[in-house]
Amino acid sequence: MSGIVVIGAGQAAGQAAASLRQEGYEGKVTILGDEAQAPYQRPPLSKAYLSGEIGMDRVLVRPENFYPDKDIDLKTNTTVTAIDRDNKTVSTESGDTYEYDKLLIATGSRPRILNIPGSDLEGIHYLRTIADVDGIRGAMQSATRLCIVGGGYIGLEVAAVAKKAGLDVTVVEAMDRILLRVTTPEMSEFYHNLHTGRGVNILVNTGVDGFEGENGKITAVVCGDNKVEADLVIVGIGIIPNVELAEAAGLECDNGIVVDDHCQTSDPDIYAAGDCTNHPNPILDRRLRLESVPNAMGQARTACSNMLGGDKVYSEVPWFWSDQYELKLQMVGFSADGDTSVVRGDKDANQFAVFYLKDGKVVAVDAVNSPKEFMVCKQLYGKPADAAALADPETELKSLLG
Ligand code: FAD
Ligand code: NAP
Repeated sequence: MSGIVVIGAGQAAGQAAASLRQEGYEGKVTILGDEAQAPYQRPPLSKAYLSGEIGMDRVLVRPENFYPDKDIDLKTNTTVTAIDRDNKTVSTESGDTYEYDKLLIATGSRPRILNIPGSDLEGIHYLRTIADVDGIRGAMQSATRLCIVGGGYIGLEVAAVAKKAGLDVTVVEAMDRILLRVTTPEMSEFYHNLHTGRGVNILVNTGVDGFEGENGKITAVVCGDNKVEADLVIVGIGIIPNVELAEAAGLECDNGIVVDDHCQTSDPDIYAAGDCTNHPNPILDRRLRLESVPNAMGQARTACSNMLGGDKVYSEVPWFWSDQYELKLQMVGFSADGDTSVVRGDKDANQFAVFYLKDGKVVAVDAVNSPKEFMVCKQLYGKPADAAALADPETELKSLLG
């Protein structure tokens, strides 16, 4: 038996390693990852790891000794260059070949790159890996003026950390509001005011045309007639799923590697999980490409169960979180699916939840600093609820579960 090979050693791969052994699989497991580290979690990279509050030991998905202890062959610094479906092998940059019975593609995604004048100046960073953050942390020691390109999750989480570290911070967002892709105008306004209240300068409707520098080092970000002076730039303008290996192997790809509800690709011996997939969501009744930890873990569990002969459907309501300053935002569902919204709690006290309803049913909730309530919010998903009762702080949310 050739065993199971996993391409990529990130969040989904780390979960797959654990799931395969938990499911009782005793065969060969090989994980091939191009980074230097064992699988680690990316969320702390723009939060507590960036601020220095936690170290490497706290970001690993499993302790390093987990892999040898479970007889899992983890090969780091190993880039897979091709999948040969006829011979059921994968080959690596260094010329090695690995046979598989079942293959899991968990290649994740990479930052979208700005290719404009001055892009190669020293001091312009992207944030995806531990190595990226180590570089940024070093640069933050001597920087005074940080310009962040992109008002998405990365931009705003980094803005919060950098502001607390005493930097002068400007966020440049191309669209007319921050967090446009993930939330409603109401929540964008709340987070805009939160950041400007803490002294972050936010420029919306502002595209970046180029970077200026002196002696090869960044000095300013050029936005039309405007210039934002900066000695450090972090670009967070979204990601591109890593589908090239799958595409070259002739697997169906369409905004991600196309998988079915069993996380199986168009080749029955090849599965995929995490950021790189485009998958059906039976609850929402549409296809999604999600960029989140719960999705990477859930798909990895499903894929592993099915690689071992199971018949498991991946069907979860998407949920997300973001930490900025002392505020924890937790979201379930997609707010854009709602036709009505209702606020519960106190926005001025930074503790509230916004419920989004469609045809009287809860289709999404954004909860700020309300983790206990959020647990109930997740269960309220898809249930009919009365807007007045949701807004009334005297109504126990649990009583609405029916
Ligand atoms: P990854 O974790 O990216 O792992 C894929 C791995 O495969 C990478 O190591 C990659 O280098 C490797 N790889 C790619 N191609 C090859 C190849 N050819 N050969 C070998 N290896 C290869 N999500 C949340 O839910 N909450 C958060 O708060 C949150 N915060 C985040 C903060 C940051 C800074 C970032 C970057 C992401 C954050 N995310 C968050 C998103 C979340 O981390 C991702 O959705 C998740 O990591 C996806 O897991 P994955 O296994 O699909 O991909
Ligand atoms: P993102 O959330 O997609 O946000 C990128 C933002 O940059 C968007 O608002 C985008 O606008 C804007 N933008 C695009 N091109 C621009 C340009 N040329 N100039 C200025 N702004 C521009 O992506 P991200 O913040 O880069 O995060 C990368 C990945 O990490 C994502 O997968 C994200 O989900 C993940 N992440 C998640 C969390 C979390 O869940 N808490 C935290 C950090 C990172 P448009 O929408 O118009 O393109």
